[in-house]
Amino acid sequence: MTLAFDAPHIERVVGSLSRKMLINGEWVDSASGETFETVNPATEEVLASVAKGGAEDADRAVRAARTAFEDGSAWRTMPHGQRGKIIHKLGDLVLENLEEFALLESLDNGKPYAVAKAADVPLTADMFHYMSGWATKITGRTMPVSAWDPNAYLTFSLKEPTGVAAQIIPWNFPLLMAAWKVAPALAAGCTVVLKPAEQTPLSALLLGELALQAGLPPGVLNIVTGFGDAGAALASHPDVDKVAFTGSTEVGKEIVKAAAGNLKKVTLELGGKSPNVVYADADIEKAIAGSAHAIFFNQGECCVAGSRLYVEESVYDQVVEGVAARAAEIKVGNGLDATTEMGPLVSQEQFDRVTGYIDSGRSDGAGIHGGTRVGDKGYFVAPTVLAGAREDMKAVQEEIFGPVVAAMPFRSEDEIIPVANNTNYGLGAGVFTKDVGKAYRTAKRLRAGTVWVNTWNVFDATLPFGGYKESGWGREMGEDVFHNYTETKTVITDLS
Ligand code: NAP
Ligand code: MG
Repeated sequence: MTLAFDAPHIERVVGSLSRKMLINGEWVDSASGETFETVNPATEEVLASVAKGGAEDADRAVRAARTAFEDGSAWRTMPHGQRGKIIHKLGDLVLENLEEFALLESLDNGKPYAVAKAADVPLTADMFHYMSGWATKITGRTMPVSAWDPNAYLTFSLKEPTGVAAQIIPWNFPLLMAAWKVAPALAAGCTVVLKPAEQTPLSALLLGELALQAGLPPGVLNIVTGFGDAGAALASHPDVDKVAFTGSTEVGKEIVKAAAGNLKKVTLELGGKSPNVVYADADIEKAIAGSAHAIFFNQGECCVAGSRLYVEESVYDQVVEGVAARAAEIKVGNGLDATTEMGPLVSQEQFDRVTGYIDSGRSDGAGIHGGTRVGDKGYFVAPTVLAGAREDMKAVQEEIFGPVVAAMPFRSEDEIIPVANNTNYGLGAGVFTKDVGKAYRTAKRLRAGTVWVNTWNVFDATLPFGGYKESGWGREMGEDVFHNYTETKTVITDLS
């Protein structure tokens, strides 16, 4: 195996990171003095120990964020153009550290270095660059009154930052999820406490260092590394105005309950079980490549993974065999190997979970392509197709969050729509066909926040993203994200 990096280089990049938390512009230990270890999922070896933040640290970070948000603070009085420049500079610094970030993402999460370098890190920079422009473009409106003399009053709205935002993120795109959360919150003028996932804290620490370099005032961005209890302390904290969460539907429901104490605003990006509908009139080669990408990209650890593959009867065998053939040729290995296409799953827990679903598919009678462990060290699972699956199987109903797709045939457009929509989730969906009318009819009838037509996994800072049903509340990215981080104030002036 040819690794792209030698051990001393890895040691230098990981070793140069702070192992502390960022609170009020300073790197500090946890109040308890405790640390926890983060593991490289390709080798099962410890990468680094970082501070284990708990409720007391969450409280310290919230107090710093509150002080930074107070009337008259450096952040609240800063010209919006200057705010935008700092956010833009942070995007530049992310690009200047492209290779370090890609290395940290690969080591901590397992994903291929080449993928992180081509996708995660540039998209992170783009998010800061795109959102920096909004800092000067979030505006209210003037609205003439309807029931009163329109000349008697001057009436307008202001858009003001919501306040202190707690942002709790998962491990599948550690850096990019931080950017999706932090960039718009800063553009809106909020202050932030970010809690990265316990499995992948490292890239957030580098982002914190760069945020200070970019010129963010102390306390505007705080980072508390730790476990779920730190997240829970933020979600229930009485001085947090808004909580934004990405992760499991189960924890999302806990967040809603915890937020009820002070009725903080809540947005949620939760799980999915995205249907992928392939019609017989599709470009079949494109449909096979797209369907494989839909489920196998990022080890299948994608909330929008196309995990239910519905194929029109007449091309079912051809498409399923094509996806299985692609699965068999995907090179699984250490993310630092230049030829690797798929890395390990993020943790032992995720490995057990995913292989458990493969076993359930097997015992429920699905035909298995792949389905094995790869190697005997690291959390590697072969890309897997469960052929001839049925709607009542656990592996078809529940989110797996791994490289496992269940394939089922269908006969007609009218038959497949209710089946595709028969899920508690509604995050992503896709359709492959060359018939434009059928493509748009299907796109309109699928109940999901994003529908891809003849493609999958295209994301952009301009495009709103979020879920119907139990896939969440609210939208991230684009202009829509500012509903999450602004309050509308209406001002009514008597002109007499
Ligand atoms: P998770 O528990 O929902 O974790 C997401 C984030 O929430 C992490 O930062 C986590 O901290 C934190 N957290 C955990 N319990 C919390 C609580 N009670 N209050 C506030 N924050 C809390 O997800 P997971 O356990 O890592 O993964 C489990 C499953 O979730 C996956 O198999 C997958 O199905 C789904 N998932 C979905 C997404 C998505 O993008 N929608 C992403 C990741 C996972 P810790 O890291 O310390 O637990
Ligand atoms: Mg790790």
